[in-house]
Amino acid sequence: MANSEIKIALAGNPNCGKTTLFNTLTGSNQFVGNWPGVTVEKKEGKLKKHDGVTITDLPGIYSLSPYTLEEVVARNYLIDENPDVILNIVDGTNLERNLYLTTQLTELGIPVVMAVNMIDLVNKNGDKINLDALSEQMGCKAVAISALKGTGIMEAAEEAIKAANGTKTLPPHSFSGPVEHALAHIEEAVLHDMNEDKQRWYAIKVFERDEKIIAKLNISKEKMEHIEKDIAAAEKELDDDAESIITNERYVYIASIIKSCYKKKNKAKQSTSDKIDKIVTNRILALPIFAVIMYAVYWIAMMAFGASATDFTNDQIFGDGWYLFGIGRSGYEEMVDEWAGENVFVGDVKAVIDAAADNDVTGAENLQADFEDADFGAFEEDYGFYADELEENGYELNAALEAAGALDEDGEFTTPGMDEVEGAVFVPSIPDLVSSGLEKAGANEFVTGLVVDGIVGGVGAVLGFVPQMLVLFFLLAFLESCGYMARVAFVLDRIFRRFGLSGKSFIPMLVSSGCGVPGIMASRTIESQRDRRMTIMTTTFIPCGAKLPIIALITAALFRHTFMNGAWLAPAAYFIGVAAVIISGILLKKTKMFAGDPAPFVMELPAYHWPTLGNLLRSMWERGWSFIKKAGTVILISSVVIWLGSVFGNTEAGFGFDPDMELESSVLGIVGGAIKWIFAPIGFANIKATIATIMGLVAKEEVVGVFGVLDFEGLTALAGFSFLIFNLLCAPCFAAIGAIKREMNSAKWTWFAIGYQCVFAYAISLIVYQFGLLFSGSVNVIGLIFAILVLAGLCFLVFRPAKKYIGAVKEN
Ligand code: GDP
Ligand code: MG
Repeated sequence: MANSEIKIALAGNPNCGKTTLFNTLTGSNQFVGNWPGVTVEKKEGKLKKHDGVTITDLPGIYSLSPYTLEEVVARNYLIDENPDVILNIVDGTNLERNLYLTTQLTELGIPVVMAVNMIDLVNKNGDKINLDALSEQMGCKAVAISALKGTGIMEAAEEAIKAANGTKTLPPHSFSGPVEHALAHIEEAVLHDMNEDKQRWYAIKVFERDEKIIAKLNISKEKMEHIEKDIAAAEKELDDDAESIITNERYVYIASIIKSCYKKKNKAKQSTSDKIDKIVTNRILALPIFAVIMYAVYWIAMMAFGASATDFTNDQIFGDGWYLFGIGRSGYEEMVDEWAGENVFVGDVKAVIDAAADNDVTGAENLQADFEDADFGAFEEDYGFYADELEENGYELNAALEAAGALDEDGEFTTPGMDEVEGAVFVPSIPDLVSSGLEKAGANEFVTGLVVDGIVGGVGAVLGFVPQMLVLFFLLAFLESCGYMARVAFVLDRIFRRFGLSGKSFIPMLVSSGCGVPGIMASRTIESQRDRRMTIMTTTFIPCGAKLPIIALITAALFRHTFMNGAWLAPAAYFIGVAAVIISGILLKKTKMFAGDPAPFVMELPAYHWPTLGNLLRSMWERGWSFIKKAGTVILISSVVIWLGSVFGNTEAGFGFDPDMELESSVLGIVGGAIKWIFAPIGFANIKATIATIMGLVAKEEVVGVFGVLDFEGLTALAGFSFLIFNLLCAPCFAAIGAIKREMNSAKWTWFAIGYQCVFAYAISLIVYQFGLLFSGSVNVIGLIFAILVLAGLCFLVFRPAKKYIGAVKEN
C-alpha cells in the first residue's frame, strides 16, 4: 500500500487514552517538543512497522471552539497542516461527551476513523456498543480498542491508513432548517473558492461568530453584515444565540445516536470506582486521606529512598569517593574512629573546648557534645563552623589539634585515606578522578579549577537531586495514571479557586517544598495555560529544602535568644511562603494577563485502574531527562560564570587569577560592593549579605556557605529577618529558573516571572523592615513613607474589585 508520508492526527478528549495509544503505536520512536510559540506539549512519532506514517498526538480537547489554548492549537493543526486522516479516540465509557468532539471532527473534510477506547471497561461493566450502527450514524469507521491492553490498536491504525488513502468522511448530520439555510448562505457568500470538503466546518464556525476564523478568512465588512442578517434570522427563529443553537443541536443528535448504539447494563449498580470515590472524595475524609497519601509519597521520595540515593550521589560519587558494593565502608568507619580516638578526642583538645564552653563561646557546646559522642563526622562539621570563633576568643583549638596529631601543618585533618582499606575496591569520586586526570595531563591550576570546581562541581551538585526526583516522578506518575490525581484536583479545586489557582496547582506546591525544580515541572499536569503560568510563578515561594539551612542559619545567629530559641522561625517561613502564594494569586488574577473566567472544572473522573509499569517508567524518564538536559546547559553555564567571578579579582599583583581568592576582593565581591546600596532600604546594605543573595541564585545552599555561621556583623535581628524574607521569596536558583524557562517556553514570561518574584520579595521585605524599625523605635521617615506607599499599593492590587476583561482568553 502506498504508505509513503501519511500523517495521522490523534485527537480526543483529555484522559481518553490518547497518550497511551500514541505510546503503544509508536514505541520509542518519538520526538517530544512544544507547539511553536506556546507551552503546549507536542509529540510526534513514527508508526511501528510503517515507515512513512507519522502520528501526531494533539492536545486533549472537548471541542474545536477557540476558548482554550489547547483547542486553538489542535484545530489550527487540523485545518492548516493537512493531516491525511484523523484518528479520533473516543472514551467508550463516556460516549456522549466524547461524540461531541467527533461530530465536529467529521465536518472538517478530513477522513476520520473512530477508535472506541476503554472497551475493556465497557465490557467489564457489561455495557454494549453497537459499532456498526455507530459507524453508520457518524459516517466514519469505528474500531473498538483498549489502548491499555493493546487490543485492536493496530487494526485501528490500519483503518486510518486505509481511510487516508481513499474514503471521504462526509458529515452525516444536518442542523435544523434555519441553521442549514444560514450555512448555505455563508458558504455561498464567502467560502465558494475553498475546497468543497472544508467549507462546512468553516461555515459553521462563521455562523458561531468565531472571531479567530472570521479574522482568518478575511471577510470584508459588507459581507459580514450580510451574513450577520442570516445568522440573526436563525437566532430569532430558534430563540437562542448562534453558538448555543449549534451546541444544543449537536447534543440532541448525539442523544439519538446513543439511544440506538449504546446499551447500558444496569444503571443502579455501583462500580468499584464509584465505591472508592464515595470514600476518597467524601466531604470530610477527602483531605485527611489526601494528606496521608501525599505524606507517604513525600516520605518515600525524600526520606526513605530518595535521600539516601541523593546523599550517595552528593557525598560519595561527587564527594569523597565510594566502595564498590559498599564493601569496605564499615572497615573504613572503624579506621576513622580509631584514628579519631587517638588524635582528636584527647584530653588536651577537650581542655580547650571545655574552657571555651565555660565562657559561653558560641559553638563550644556543640563541639563538647561531639566529643562526648566521639563522633568525628559531626566534630569535623562543627569544627568547620565554629573553629574561627574559638580562635578569635583566644582559645587555641588548632594548636591543640595539631599537637595531638589531628591536623597537619597546613591545617588539614590527617584522616586516613579511603583507599587504605584492605580487601575493598575503592572508587574515587568524579571530581577526584577528573582532577587527577587533569594533573597527569599537565593542566594548569586554572583549567583544573574551572573543570573541577566550575563544571563538575556545579553540575554534580544538581545531578545529586536526580535520584530523588526520579522516585518522586515515578510515584506521582502512579497517582496520576491510576486516576487518583483527578480526584485530588477535584477536591482541592474549590479551595484553590478562591485565589485564582486550580486544584491541580497543589501538587507543584507540595513538590516544591522539597525542590522547586520538580515542583515547576509538575505544573505540566495543569492543562489550562493561565493556571499553569500562575502556578509556575508562585510555586517557588514555598521554602524548598535548600532554603532550610538559611532559616537555620538566621535562627542560630540572630534569634536563638528569642521565644523557643527561635524555633518559631521555620514555621513562620512556611507561613510566609503560603501567604505569598495566596496574595500573589489574588493580585495576579485581577490583572489583565490572568483575568477571565476560570477554566471550568470539566474533568470526567476516569475509572480507577492499575497503570502499566512501562507507562510509569516512561513518564518518570521523560521528566527526569528534561531536568538532566537542563543541568547540562543553564546550570553548567551559570556555575562556570559564578566560579570565574569568585577566582578572578584584585590580587597583590593586581587584577588576576587566584584559586584561593578572598570573596571580598573577587569580582563577585566587587560587584556585591557596588550594588549593595540596593538592599539598604530593606536593611542589609552589607557586602556579605549582598554576595550571599547573589550566590543564592546559583543554589540557595550557597547563602549559608557565604556567610559562615556567625558572620553577621552589622545585621540586627530585624535586618536578618528581612534578609530571610527576601531570600525566601526572590528569584529561585538557576536550576529552578531554568525549569521556569523550559516550562514557560518563552523568554518574556520567564523574565516576567523572575521580575515579579524579585519585586514582590522586595516589597514585602521593605514593609516588614520599615514597619519593624517603627516598633524598635528607630524610625527612618523616608523609608517609612515608601513602605506605607508600597503597602497601600499592595492592598489596592489585592482588594480592588476584579474588572471584567472581555475576550481576555489570550494565547501568549
Ligand atoms: P490522554 O489524556 O488522552 O493522553 O490519556 P492517557 O493516555 O494519559 O490515559 C488516561 C488514563 O486512562 C490513563 O490512566 C490510562 O492508563 C487509562 N487508559 C487508557 N486507555 C485505556 C484502556 O483502554 N483501558 C483502561 N482500562 N484504561 C485506559
Ligand atoms: Mg496525554
